[in-house]
Amino acid sequence: MRFSGLRVIKEGLTGNRGWTPHWRDATPKDAYDVVIIGGGGHGLATAYYLARNHGITNVAVLEKGYLGGGNVGRNTTIVRANYFLPGNSEFYSHSLKLWEGLEQDLNYNVMHSQRGQIALFHNDAQRDAAIRRGNAIRNQGDDADLLTPDDLRRVLPYLDYEQTRFPIYGGLLQRRAGTARHDAVAWGFARGASDRGVDLIQNCEVTGIDIDAGKVRGVQTTRGAIRAGKVAIVVAGRSSQVAAMAGMRLPIESHVLQAFVTEGLKPCIDHVVSFGMGHFYISQSDKGGLVFGGDLDFHASYAARGNLPMAEHVMEAGMTLMPMIGKAKLLRSWGGIMDMTPDGSPIIDRTDVDGLYFNGGWCYGGFKAVPGSGYSMAHLVATGRHHEPAARFRLDRFLTGRGLMDEEGTGAQHNLH
Ligand SMILES: Cc1cc2nc3c(=O)[nH]c(=O)nc-3n(C[C@H](O)[C@H](O)[C@H](O)COP(=O)(O)OP(=O)(O)OC[C@H]3O[C@@H](n4cnc5c(N)ncnc54)[C@H](O)[C@@H]3O)c2cc1C
Repeated sequence: MRFSGLRVIKEGLTGNRGWTPHWRDATPKDAYDVVIIGGGGHGLATAYYLARNHGITNVAVLEKGYLGGGNVGRNTTIVRANYFLPGNSEFYSHSLKLWEGLEQDLNYNVMHSQRGQIALFHNDAQRDAAIRRGNAIRNQGDDADLLTPDDLRRVLPYLDYEQTRFPIYGGLLQRRAGTARHDAVAWGFARGASDRGVDLIQNCEVTGIDIDAGKVRGVQTTRGAIRAGKVAIVVAGRSSQVAAMAGMRLPIESHVLQAFVTEGLKPCIDHVVSFGMGHFYISQSDKGGLVFGGDLDFHASYAARGNLPMAEHVMEAGMTLMPMIGKAKLLRSWGGIMDMTPDGSPIIDRTDVDGLYFNGGWCYGGFKAVPGSGYSMAHLVATGRHHEPAARFRLDRFLTGRGLMDEEGTGAQHNLH
């Protein structure tokens, strides 16, 4: 089934009876060439690119809940390529380029909106860091512009420019950054993979990984055993638990990240804006809700819900930056489980077990990475070689200390990234 404007009009006029399910509800087979554990953004994108780029279609994606029920459907949808360090820089640049062609590629409206992201800075040191970051972004071939306070007053008139505690010195703008509709991204990749023959199997939890003589043989699931030539672990916040099934202890801690949405308002926030002195960032959804978030809960947890102290912390930061937000009514808040690494950067690598691959450690920035991660992971699984833009996302950097990519310069404490 293809989508087009004409099709939408025709269906609208004929009672919307012609739409078909977006993907097949597959029954697990006994064996596959590749089993992907986890039906989030990264797992589905990996399956899609395995089929699309490498012609590997005897693939199953095993999801313990429903597709898109994990972080891919819980995030605040910011898509950007403004990373500083080699490794991250080229990877996110590649991913943003994939985003820019994604809707055509998937024939699916993921509501990708390049409305621009502005990262504010509030003192001289932050301005120097923003200039350095901007230069690095431009060297990578992406866009970055420095905005003065006068520029900001024009484009973000609702900020509090008079407060003296955190004066606004300027902002770093990336025009090609923006947002997308998160669950549509999961659905679009799911549909694209399923159309190419991939089996998407929901309500199928992996409970064990079968390894024999150093080689992966398959997985145990709540719907029976499934044999596989290759297995990819792509489970984000559950990474440590699933890797433990293969006897691995990962350098990953899971922490909860919360997000919030207000009632629908008339358009008032045109960009994605992030506060440089507090844990607060915001955008406005196409339905009108102000979508915002802040910092991680500081303790490790697998509870996919937040707590009130962090909610208060985020609201305080929001009120400091833009007091007008205090008039909006909060509708909902939720949480997702973040797979935090000690350097804040991800892992796309093979493991010591032959045929077993790992993708994770996306921290709180893995939504923007979905196309790039799926592309690079599929390349690794299909060819056995690292894909160039993701070639530095190795596991052994945590063993040797070589190649660490600590974007924030905050050291080895997981929750600080
Ligand atoms: C509140 C919040 C805000 C965020 N904001 C942003 C943002 O603005 N921009 C950005 O780039 N990133 C953001 N992120 C991060 C981003 O959402 C994640 O990094 C990314 O979605 C993780 O990858 P995923 O989509 O594959 O994860 P998930 O969707 O969580 O997929 C993993 C899947 O694995 C499944 N699974 C786990 N264990 C098993 C098992 N044993 N068997 C079978 N299946 C299993 C889970 O059910 C889940 O569906 C945010 C996250 C949160 C929670």
